[in-house]
Amino acid sequence: MREGSDQSNNAGSIDLNKENGSRLDSPQSSSIIEQLERKGSLSKAEYIQLLQDDSASTAELIFEKARRIRNQHYSNHIYVRGLIETTNYCQNDCFYCGIRRSNRQVVRYRLSGEEILGCCHRGYEMGFRTFVLQGGEDPAWTDEKVAKLVAAIKHRYPDCAVTLSLGERKKESYQLYYEAGADRYLLRHETANDSHYRMLHPPELSLEHRRQCLWNLKEIGFQIGTGMMVGSPGQTLECLADDFMFIQELQPHMVGIGPFISHKDTPFHDALNGTLMQTLRILGILRIMLPKALLPATTALATIDPIGREKGILAGANVIMPNLTPQEARKNYMLYDNKKSTGLENAEGLIELKKSMREMGYEIVVSRGDYAGFCVN
Ligand code: SAM
Repeated sequence: MREGSDQSNNAGSIDLNKENGSRLDSPQSSSIIEQLERKGSLSKAEYIQLLQDDSASTAELIFEKARRIRNQHYSNHIYVRGLIETTNYCQNDCFYCGIRRSNRQVVRYRLSGEEILGCCHRGYEMGFRTFVLQGGEDPAWTDEKVAKLVAAIKHRYPDCAVTLSLGERKKESYQLYYEAGADRYLLRHETANDSHYRMLHPPELSLEHRRQCLWNLKEIGFQIGTGMMVGSPGQTLECLADDFMFIQELQPHMVGIGPFISHKDTPFHDALNGTLMQTLRILGILRIMLPKALLPATTALATIDPIGREKGILAGANVIMPNLTPQEARKNYMLYDNKKSTGLENAEGLIELKKSMREMGYEIVVSRGDYAGFCVN
């Protein structure tokens, strides 16, 4: 592919702007976007100004630039990660989350180490070279057990990367996982605005601690991922600008964003969902800010739009995380209503996914898919 070219993977028949806002674009937006590309950073006021412009033309400018920048670093390659939802036990009570501690409707499960290794085996055969172990904050998964499991996966599949997403733990715990061979850690900060954080979480959880965990993970040497839900209850453009400011300071290797989607058994059961367009615009802005970032087109995006994954790729994403969790367990990992877990979300659908990506001009690659230029030990 020609550098900087968008020709081999253009939007094709998918119209990213179908639901876009009607307001006129601001002439300043294009110069703000240029500046973001040049410097990799903006002021909080500039982020707010850019977010206020929901015109179709500005969105298209963002998406075109995002695709071009991604292609410069990753060509037309899309990385896949096999997602294993290890446990839905959670000691936390986040107001938005379907597996929160006080949701008594959840049928709880915890996969055993052997079952998780079985998922890796299936995934490896299918061509996955990264396994993401994600779960609630489950004290039964002690540090020793996590480290032993990571070491077992790395022993059996030395050519694979292991990503953990097990929530907030002590720095010593993260260190132990790293020494056992874990490569990456995902911990969304959820919102970088303190009062918004307190709206979404019970008082025992703090933004300060969550942020500190991310800094600890980075210091240890993990490839780190952060992120937030778009359109979560109480989120304002100022909150989103705070997110951008935090992300530009942290310089993570991965950013996972998806729309907030309500769950019927949570305090936010009546809240409005985040929108597709706002999520796509933010994805595009993140790609311009962090050219080499690994940005997933998330399951939440695929849940609010039948071709949300594809639209995410066209807005600048370069990672897809099909689900390897056994079906019986998967249906109980309901973070939000109607969470998609079939079709292209399903690891078994990898062949279909490859076909669908190829039709759009992209190629699913069999590799660990590390952050461009990251030195892997
Ligand atoms: N316990 C780990 C943690 O706290 O990072 C990982 C599991 S947690 C359930 C994974 C992510 O799900 C959260 O970071 C959150 O952003 C997302 N999530 C939870 N509830 C959601 C909702 N209602 N809508 C969209 N995303 C949601």
